[in-house]
Amino acid sequence: MKRWLSGFLVLLAGAAGAADFDYGLKAQRVADGVHAFIGKTEDFTPANGGNIVNTGFIVAPGGIIVIDSGPSRRYGEQMRRAIAAVDQRPLVLVINTHHHPDHFLGNQAFAGVPLAALPGTIKGIGEEGNAFAENLFRLTGDWMQGTEVVVPGQALRAGHQETAGRRLRLLALAGHTEADLAIYDETSGVLFTGDLGFFERAPTTPHADVGRWLAALDALEAITREPGFRAIVPGHGPVARDAAPLRQTRAWLNWLQMALRRSAEEGLDMNETMARAIPAEFAVLPLSASEYRRSVGHLFPGVEQEILEPAR
Ligand SMILES: [Zn+2]
Repeated sequence: MKRWLSGFLVLLAGAAGAADFDYGLKAQRVADGVHAFIGKTEDFTPANGGNIVNTGFIVAPGGIIVIDSGPSRRYGEQMRRAIAAVDQRPLVLVINTHHHPDHFLGNQAFAGVPLAALPGTIKGIGEEGNAFAENLFRLTGDWMQGTEVVVPGQALRAGHQETAGRRLRLLALAGHTEADLAIYDETSGVLFTGDLGFFERAPTTPHADVGRWLAALDALEAITREPGFRAIVPGHGPVARDAAPLRQTRAWLNWLQMALRRSAEEGLDMNETMARAIPAEFAVLPLSASEYRRSVGHLFPGVEQEILEPAR
């Protein structure tokens, strides 16, 4: 009887946890004036509401710069409150690192604050944003209620930018998507990699160009060798004090590319390629099996074409 009752109470608690739609966002201090909200290393589910992404903010002398806005309007609203609990300066800018839904669907909550992104990201959100939002509704359910796509109005360019008295270095890269922005805060030495960096979680590749991604990792790793460098906030996974997220992402992409090429050379088909064993080094990463299968789906046709019909 007692056992039955406690089981029942656990069920009730679980249901209440989902129904209150509280992402439980707590800012993690990364450096002086730099904070991150670290999401789970999971797939989108109705239990996590899409809180599987990292977002962050920088407290500049003249106001707060927000980096990515999360997967839903609710997330954006809760993020705004969690930021205000740390510092009450006005929000001066919201930056979207790339056009994937977990990084920009909270934009709506930042009405009145300028929204900025690379031109390719603005285009991607405009063209694919609604389809992404519908997909997230399907995967996470009511957490998404009331969420609408808001396209950033301000285009960012690579280079140094002074915002609210803070000097940021913007890196316009590509490879995870057509347009991937990394942000280096020179004052604190914190590098926000967007989804060019995954850590302790297998990388996702729906819009990836592996060659360009590897080149982008070179550019980011060069920053980690600068004397002022202090930390990396990856797009997914824990904060690191060294280049580990970049090295891990690079190792995964190198292996993935090699595995796909070998399959194509051996004449394997897509299903046979998906059935390949993942080396132990990568198999330990959360979501390695599902991301590998998805990546075969995304990338194998291109690799096959490259191997079977070399460019003349
Ligand atoms: Zn992404």
